[in-house]
Amino acid sequence: MEIKAVCVLKDEHDVYPHPHNLQDPVSGVAGTIAFESQKNGTVLIKGIITGLTHGKHGLHVCAFGNLFNGYHSIGPHFNPRKKTHGGQQDEERHVGDLGNVEANEEGVAEFQVEDHLVSLSGTESIIGRAVVIRAEEDDLGKGGNEESLITGNATTGLAWGVIGIAEVVAK
Ligand code: ZN
Repeated sequence: MEIKAVCVLKDEHDVYPHPHNLQDPVSGVAGTIAFESQKNGTVLIKGIITGLTHGKHGLHVCAFGNLFNGYHSIGPHFNPRKKTHGGQQDEERHVGDLGNVEANEEGVAEFQVEDHLVSLSGTESIIGRAVVIRAEEDDLGKGGNEESLITGNATTGLAWGVIGIAEVVAK
């Protein structure tokens, strides 16, 4: 079975004018990320995000798809294996740790990565959870402080969205 999923990233201030959100500056960041299960068991992740500052920005799958209060209500990084925060290639990482994407001078990050832990089915599926793009670079757990092992010091969310099923092909 081949599963395709999609996540539309928005800053959502227009959709949920919740008091908490109104304290956050409007980021103007938006994007789309497509997920596709591969025959080798990995998931191909392809995306484009615009409106960013030049440089690296952390990208995370968080535990909940609850956008009631924007990125404040999507919970911690998705971590069904009870690990500490890390980079995509690390043994010690959250399932939701997708590392960094890098925006060019126009503020556009276009990326394509394969991930061996992310899954679109089963008990550790990321479907129905949320993706968030961060204001700062993710230090991948190597920042030398306590927060580094939790969030990678990637700070606030700029845009977020729920991962939904786009297509299921029976094979
Ligand atoms: Zn993490």
